[in-house]
Amino acid sequence: MLGLMQDQPLLISSLIEFAERHHGDAEIVSRRVEGDIHRTTWRQVASRARQIANALEEEQLLFSDRIATLAWNGYRHLELYYGVSGSGRVLHTINPRLHPDQIAWIANHAEDQILCFDLSFLPLVQAVHAKCSTVRKWIALCDADKLPADSGIPNLVSYEAWMGQRSDVYAWPSFDENSASSMCYTSGTTGNPKAALYSHRSTLLHAYAAALPDVMCISARDSVLPVVPMFHVNAWGIPYSAALVGAKLVFPGPAMDGKSIYELIEAEKVSFAAGVPTVWQMLLGHLQANKLKFSTLKRTVIGGSACPPAMIHAFQELYGVDVLHAWGMTEMSPLGTLCTLKNKHLEMSPEEQTAIRMKQGRAIFGVDMKIVDGNGESLPWDGKAYGDLLVKGPWVVKEYFKGEGGDPLVPDAEGRGWFPTGDVATIDADGFLQITDRSKDVIKSGGEWISSIDIENIAVAHPAIAMAACIGVFHPKWDERPIVAVVKKPGAEVSRDELIAFYQGKTAKWQIPDDVVFVEAIPLGATGKILKTRLREQLRDYKLPEV
Ligand code: AMP
Repeated sequence: MLGLMQDQPLLISSLIEFAERHHGDAEIVSRRVEGDIHRTTWRQVASRARQIANALEEEQLLFSDRIATLAWNGYRHLELYYGVSGSGRVLHTINPRLHPDQIAWIANHAEDQILCFDLSFLPLVQAVHAKCSTVRKWIALCDADKLPADSGIPNLVSYEAWMGQRSDVYAWPSFDENSASSMCYTSGTTGNPKAALYSHRSTLLHAYAAALPDVMCISARDSVLPVVPMFHVNAWGIPYSAALVGAKLVFPGPAMDGKSIYELIEAEKVSFAAGVPTVWQMLLGHLQANKLKFSTLKRTVIGGSACPPAMIHAFQELYGVDVLHAWGMTEMSPLGTLCTLKNKHLEMSPEEQTAIRMKQGRAIFGVDMKIVDGNGESLPWDGKAYGDLLVKGPWVVKEYFKGEGGDPLVPDAEGRGWFPTGDVATIDADGFLQITDRSKDVIKSGGEWISSIDIENIAVAHPAIAMAACIGVFHPKWDERPIVAVVKKPGAEVSRDELIAFYQGKTAKWQIPDDVVFVEAIPLGATGKILKTRLREQLRDYKLPEV
């Protein structure tokens, strides 16, 4: 017997219709590429998303055709999120920090028909447009009078001229909720990038889950600042969850420096912000240098790479901001776990609570996870056993776009497919996940594993260290030994021996790095993560002192 409830597909258009009807006057504030602050509302975003849909109809774009963006977080990007996906096309957000050859490769692989870009990416588009064979129209996200003359880009129009004159009367179509809605390529540190192809259903389920109290806990009372880019896994789904609850949205545009972000937080009374540790490092640096405090910021979700305990401590203790440590990946839309306490933890001492907050957190309903040994056998959830982390759920990929890379899933005894995350982790008895490392970054010393994340976290807890990256280097006896590359804070001093001594008592003796290498900068990838492959190349002639 089937249930007798209405069968209504979960579609992205329903989010913008809801936000328009119930939260039409909630604000969307953006710092623009032009430098000014622009203000609009959910009502206007909905109206302009319909204009985009009409413009796409006029271009005779088909269902599932790909429309690409090279854009910062801003209202025009938000309008495209809804206009493109809502009308049945697929929004392909391209990471502008990728190498131009990779961008051209991605645009061709996705068969993008239209590419919309912020004017700050004009030189990039000038460099790649001739190689993007499927793109038939280039749209600069600007007013008609700002369109650059003699750009050399054929079929270039301004966004406002392209969509501004269209009717805003448009009936969002209804279709299968499993239809593709948007796509995002992984950064592809090895081989060509592969694309996660999200569906309307996966996006809506993820949006519901992300807004829950034990996840990001966002509501109609929040002013939400996603500093995490809309070109990387849909800004962790915030543009969708914000519509679902009717939150005010604040977009930083291209200005990610500590001063700009701080000013935006204060001016727009931001209560919740989301970002990766490297960007938050700049924000904390600005606060510390200028003896500032937050007057409205209550919570921040930090993820994308391990959040160092020193950062959690600074936000919590110095600035009264709750840190929600999150873990996820492009293939997971991206949220997998988020760290919030349970009822039984409330009586614990602040130190005990902080120890829990350091972990990457508990699975969100919808995400199943397990850790396995080298034979695929499940390991106990005791907070000690570590193994390869596998996940499954309705917002986890089952295969990559165009079947690239074959079938990624690992079947279990019941034949259910699990996605191997490439991360190594422990899970404790309360279900709190702790990421030890990327499996390819774990240091294997004398048959034992050393977590590079632990070594980095201790280094950045030293007051003179701004950033740290730990890698394993060859050792004739132990196979590998850890060394730590560090960047000093401006004007700060610390010697190699002082830093090595700082590790005493903070980790097992055999895990203490054998050496410290002082560097000017640590190479970061397109999504702000430490590029260990490049660091290893840079240090390829390095030899351990005693070898
Ligand atoms: P991406 O798909 O580019 O977002 O990268 C996903 C990967 O980033 C994960 O598989 C992890 O290795 C890493 N990652 C994300 N969040 C965290 C976190 N909170 N702690 C440690 N690693 C993380």
